[in-house]
Amino acid sequence: MQASQRWWRAQAAKNAMIPAMTNRPLGNTDLLARSLSAVWHPCSQMKHYESFPLLPIAGGKGAWLHDYDNKRYLDAVSSWWVNLFGHCNPDINAALRDQLETLEHVMLAGFTHEPVVQLSERLRELAPAGLGHCFYASDGASATEIALKMSAHYWRNSGRTDKTLFISLENSYHGETLGALSVTDVALFRSAYGELIRQQATVPSPDWRNAAPGESAEAYALRCAEALERYLQQHHAQLAAFIIEPLVQGAAGMAMYHPAYLQRARQLCSEYQVHLIADEIAVGMGRTGTMFACEQAPAASSAGQETVQTGITPDFLCLSKGITGGYLPLSVVMTRDEIYRAFYGDEMAGGFLHSHSYTGNPLACRAALATLDIFARDDVLAANRSKAAYLNGISAPLREHRAVRNWRNTGMIWAFEVDTRHRDFSRRCFALALDNELLLRPVGNTIYFMPPYIIGKSEMDLLVDRTRHIVDELST
Ligand SMILES: *Cc1c(COP(=O)(O)O)cnc(C)c1O
Repeated sequence: MQASQRWWRAQAAKNAMIPAMTNRPLGNTDLLARSLSAVWHPCSQMKHYESFPLLPIAGGKGAWLHDYDNKRYLDAVSSWWVNLFGHCNPDINAALRDQLETLEHVMLAGFTHEPVVQLSERLRELAPAGLGHCFYASDGASATEIALKMSAHYWRNSGRTDKTLFISLENSYHGETLGALSVTDVALFRSAYGELIRQQATVPSPDWRNAAPGESAEAYALRCAEALERYLQQHHAQLAAFIIEPLVQGAAGMAMYHPAYLQRARQLCSEYQVHLIADEIAVGMGRTGTMFACEQAPAASSAGQETVQTGITPDFLCLSKGITGGYLPLSVVMTRDEIYRAFYGDEMAGGFLHSHSYTGNPLACRAALATLDIFARDDVLAANRSKAAYLNGISAPLREHRAVRNWRNTGMIWAFEVDTRHRDFSRRCFALALDNELLLRPVGNTIYFMPPYIIGKSEMDLLVDRTRHIVDELST
């Protein structure tokens, strides 16, 4: 169905009577009308669905979703960055079926179970050295809340009760609950919810698009690190933590920056006794080319040492999104032994006070274990390197399009800006992409690809070719 057809169908559905509640399978038209009547969709102005209708999805397989008219859509954004190994992945399905017959859920306070223990041990093996303790929640925003609370509570338990403030990067995104919004720098949220929030300060983002003419991404990153240093010098006594999205600021429109910034940020945070929180909710699980983005920080130059370790260990590492392969809500905050020990004692008030009903859900942990199995069995990081090289190889007609600016790539993320006169570019592009069998969801005039790792060559051909066609259409 074309976008225009969908529009007419939505109008018809809007005018039709909303059918009575039943449990029978819903047809396409029924789904549209009833969804608009009963479901309040996220990240949406509901009225926009009058002109850009919802798309009822009947099923998915591999990198593709399909609707009720058997039209297919290449899921080029991994369904909001969560899907790693395709829809209805047979291995993850099998693991979940097995877990369903064993244990679907048990509370994690006072109880434990196999999937949560195995997952914690395997994450400890994979994560930057020293992150030995896993605290679980159900979504990314909660992971941010946990990291912020744990950091401030650590300082309190250590007698440093003044350290209660946080900083983040300009254009940062760490989730949308009130605590997470306090370290999120999105103008729309600030104006709508600013009164409810104890808004925290930001420091300049090393996003290389802001570099001066002729300045390298690395030089710009180091210049931003100097600004961070000046801020820390002045405010460290009150600062609990600095929270960052390592290498790629996703919601900012896939803003990418040089890894030298991570290395300097780690040094400076240690020097000024401020925790470093790595929010790898979007960039973890192989997305940037290494299992965790923090691994890409260059070695610190330390004279006289033989072996220099690359990569940094943050004080807190937040994971979610891809951790279950895009199957179930799960997040985890990993931290160091020294931090864990500051909470260990006889008094309840000294312990970490945080819980969610579904903390460490066995089904979600099992999906995460099946996801890690696929990483190991298929040597996914190496396979992704050749896939990324292939996509870069075929990208010239798109990259060199006269309306394309700032082409960039990190691991399995690509992004660029489009010169366009359309103020509603993002929604137009979304609709036109659907007409071209693509699921793209631009941020402003930034188009990005964040495909599932199982994407094949012919699918990458289709993605690049049709995106070029879409850019053509929307840039004239
Ligand atoms: C998505 C995201 C979050 C929030 O995760 P939710 O599960 O949507 O609450 C936090 N930080 C980053 C970097 C994200 O991309």
